[in-house]
Amino acid sequence: MPQRFASVTLSVVTPMYNEREAVDHFVARLRPVLDGLGVTYEVVAVDDGSRDATVARLIEMRREWPELRVVALRRNVGHQTALRAGLRSAHGAYVVSIDADLQDPPEVIGEMLDAARQQDVHVVYGVRGDRSTDTVFKRNTAGLYYWVMRRLVGPWVSDNAGDFRLMSRAVVDVLNDLPEQRPVYRLVVPSLGFSSAEVAYTRAERVAGETKYPLSKMIKLTLDSVTSFSAAPLRIATWLGLFSFLLCLALIVSGLAAWGFGAVVPGWTSLYIAVLLLGGIQLICLGLLGEYIGRIYAASQNRPQFLVAMDTEDEAARRVADGIESVELAGRR
Ligand code: UDP
Ligand code: MG
Repeated sequence: MPQRFASVTLSVVTPMYNEREAVDHFVARLRPVLDGLGVTYEVVAVDDGSRDATVARLIEMRREWPELRVVALRRNVGHQTALRAGLRSAHGAYVVSIDADLQDPPEVIGEMLDAARQQDVHVVYGVRGDRSTDTVFKRNTAGLYYWVMRRLVGPWVSDNAGDFRLMSRAVVDVLNDLPEQRPVYRLVVPSLGFSSAEVAYTRAERVAGETKYPLSKMIKLTLDSVTSFSAAPLRIATWLGLFSFLLCLALIVSGLAAWGFGAVVPGWTSLYIAVLLLGGIQLICLGLLGEYIGRIYAASQNRPQFLVAMDTEDEAARRVADGIESVELAGRR
């Protein structure tokens, strides 16, 4: 694969969804860190269709910080896809992905860059040494998620590596060329087998606002993770079917025996249970098939997973963002 041109040393990609309350804190802490690194950099703030004033505030801050680039998506597409939009936009020889809520400390970026350069590795994972600031619910659901993934996907899925990591241009190019519709990066990146190192950090509390990951999004991520890496759930369906078939055989034998002994079974309860049980198992299996077929269907439609509404890197968008030109003027061109 051809190496693409990297015009800056470091790109910092940050997906943001309704982060108006956090964005000032984030920028205030990120900027001195990046300025102190002594390398050329860009910050790619991907606005994931926020409904609050995140974009407006970012554009305002960009006037004082030209390295801040704002890429606004047309609608909310979710954290992983927003990350994908950011990776596609980034120009850096190294790319770091980081959350906007300061749960991942920006100071660690310097350590990551040093580790990548000194140890000459392609990926540096930020590994959470301590999750005590996460809620009990979050810690337990995360624990269960990683336990299941390690069993389904492979032993190289790290317990505590989320989406705070540094990747080289070579890795990002591979990710950008994946035909997959909804890659789950924390699973895909280690599966590629690039050389890697780890940097430990303490996960802090969200600086402001609320989590943008409600239970529904967590379930979506889990379904994507499972189905993108394993057909094992389909096998569960087979085992369930086999088990219920054997159970039915046993019931037939016992029913015949009871009939032979003249014990007339009233029969309604057992029939009722058997029908419910089999119906349930069949629905589970159909649902499982549906999950996979749905993904095959989406892949065959090949719709764009995200659309960029504005990128301050484009000349016209920048002139509007900087207030040189009005939106109406730009629209007329
Ligand atoms: N995020 C996003 N789109 C979404 C949900 C979240 O871009 O639909 C961003 C969010 O702004 C944050 C990061 O993804 O920068 C992680 O989200 P959050 O901190 O809410 O998740 P948690 O840390 O609670 O798991
Ligand atoms: Mg967070």
